[in-house]
Order: sequence, then C-alpha cells, then structure tokens
Amino acid sequence: MTPWVPDCLLSWDVDIGQQALFDGAFQKLLAFTGGDLRLVYVIFLTVAHSLPTILINGTHYLIRLVLGDAALEPYRWQAGRQPPPALVRKCIMYVGAAHILSPLLPYSMFPRAYGYHPHLFSAPVPGILTLLLQYVVAFLFTDGIFYWTHRLLHTPMLYRWIHKQHHQFYVTIGLAAEYAHPIELLFGNVLPVFFASVVFRYHIAAFSSWVFIAMAGTTFHHSGFFFPLAPSDEFHDFHHSHVVCNFGSSPMWDWLCGTDKQWQDKRRGGSVVKVVQQSNTDVAGPAVLPPLSLGTAAVVAVPRGRAARSPSPAKSSAARRKRSTSRK
Ligand SMILES: [Zn+2]
Ligand SMILES: [Zn+2]
Repeated sequence: MTPWVPDCLLSWDVDIGQQALFDGAFQKLLAFTGGDLRLVYVIFLTVAHSLPTILINGTHYLIRLVLGDAALEPYRWQAGRQPPPALVRKCIMYVGAAHILSPLLPYSMFPRAYGYHPHLFSAPVPGILTLLLQYVVAFLFTDGIFYWTHRLLHTPMLYRWIHKQHHQFYVTIGLAAEYAHPIELLFGNVLPVFFASVVFRYHIAAFSSWVFIAMAGTTFHHSGFFFPLAPSDEFHDFHHSHVVCNFGSSPMWDWLCGTDKQWQDKRRGGSVVKVVQQSNTDVAGPAVLPPLSLGTAAVVAVPRGRAARSPSPAKSSAARRKRSTSRK
C-alpha cells in the first residue's frame, strides 16, 4: 500500500511482467518455507543484498583472470595502483563474514516491519511507474542520509574509531564497499538504503529490488574500473583517493554544501589544490580530518592537470613531513 502515490499515476501504471515474476518467486518461497513469511522476507532481502556483490565482483574477477591485470590497466581510475594484497585478503574474509551474518538483520526486523506494514506481501505488486517513483524517492533519501552520516563519520573522533577502516582502501575494489566497521555498515549504509522503503511502506518487491539496485550501485562505485557499457563512478573513487571531499553517493549534496572543491578543480583541469594523500599503506589510519569542514584541511598545490593522479609514496611522505614541520 502506497497511499502517497498519486491516483493519476496509478491509473496510467503498467505491468511489464514484474507482477508475474514476483508472484512466481513469492509462491515458490512460500512453499519452500512452509508458509513462513518471516523467512520469505529474510530470503528476499538476503538475495537482494548478496546477489549483486557475487555477480559484479565475480564478473570482475573472471575478467581479470582471463585478460590479466596489464590488459585492464587502461580501465583503472587510478592507473598503476592496486590495493595491498594483504588488505584485499582481509577484506574478502570480512565481507564474506558480513554476508553470512547479514540475514540476522531482516530476521530481527521482521516482526516490527510486518506489524507496521501488514500489506508488505499482499498488496498488488507496484506497476512500473509506481516502482520508478518509489526508486526516485528511495534514492533521494538514500543520498541525503548517506551524505550526512558520511560527513559525521569524517569528524575526528568517529573517523578514528569507525570510518578509517573503510578508508584503508585508498585504491578501491568492489568488495571494499562493505569493508567498514559494523556501526558504519548499520547506520551509514543500511539505514540510508532501508529508510524510505520501511517508512513509506514499500511492497517487498519494491523494497528488495531497491536494495539490489543500491548494492549494485555501491559495488560499481568501489570497483576501481570504468569498463565500457558498465556503470562506473569516479566521484567516490576520488573520495577514497583524496579523503576530504565527495561525501555523497551522488554529487548533489556535495555541490549544494560546497564539499566538492577538489573534485571541481580536477574536472576543470585548472590549477588544483590537492589534499595531502593519506595512504592506505598507513594501516594505523590516516591523519585526523577536520570536523565537517574543508577549510582547515592540510593541502599542497599540485601541477595543472594532475588532480586525478595520486602522489607517489615518496611525495606523500614529503608532504606529511612538510605538514608536521609546519605545525611545530
Ligand atoms: Zn569517507
Ligand atoms: Zn567508499
């Protein structure tokens, strides 16, 4: 039941097969679980969470296996750079464990979610226009909540305690999307994606398909590649390589709040001021960042047209030495 969807939209709505697709899956799951709606809920959301991770990362792995790293080098946002193998292994173990444990969340949520929205399964499956409207609403809430929780995570204390785990990836891979402290996973990732679907009582078909889209999006955002015909995103890659700008899942809030200065400089290709790189090789975590402000970030000037390139470790060390000297 989506009472906020305008009647005029509902009257024009169309079904292109999604209703039969959902009903078929729902009936099979109902039979498989012996009519246990809680388990059906858990399976829908678990598949929506894990399937994009497996498909996209698995495809990238196969492409690398077949073509080799050298052939893919022209498609990397940060050419010539890869995350440390030890960090990648740690990430695979961590994200694997997170996916194994992830069904606990919808399992514990279900009684309250179903009590709040008893028509979660029984309402008509939304038509395409309704689905698109719900995706737009879900995107706006996801984008806004993600931006502000992410900026909070960049305050000195929360960064040091929570967010620096995610920023160990200076050069990202798809799995790094979920390589984050459990508190960040819950409040910085799950909350933004779930918010609109739960609060506005989305049908489980709309809810789970939005989770699928959001998971696919964040996996592509962290992939580190820009393959032809595949979604890609240099915006968040730039956040990982520069740390103090581009906090949103899209550029909208950063543009509104002026937290995309380095990104805009880079896009203009003009004289660029670049934040001192805080390398992921520093496993203890990068330096503390200024609270909700770019104004006090340590910066160094870099030559025209080199904004997208990260400084060499030697230059990073020099920059850090220069910064620490200037503080004295
Ligand atoms: Zn961050
Ligand atoms: Zn990230």
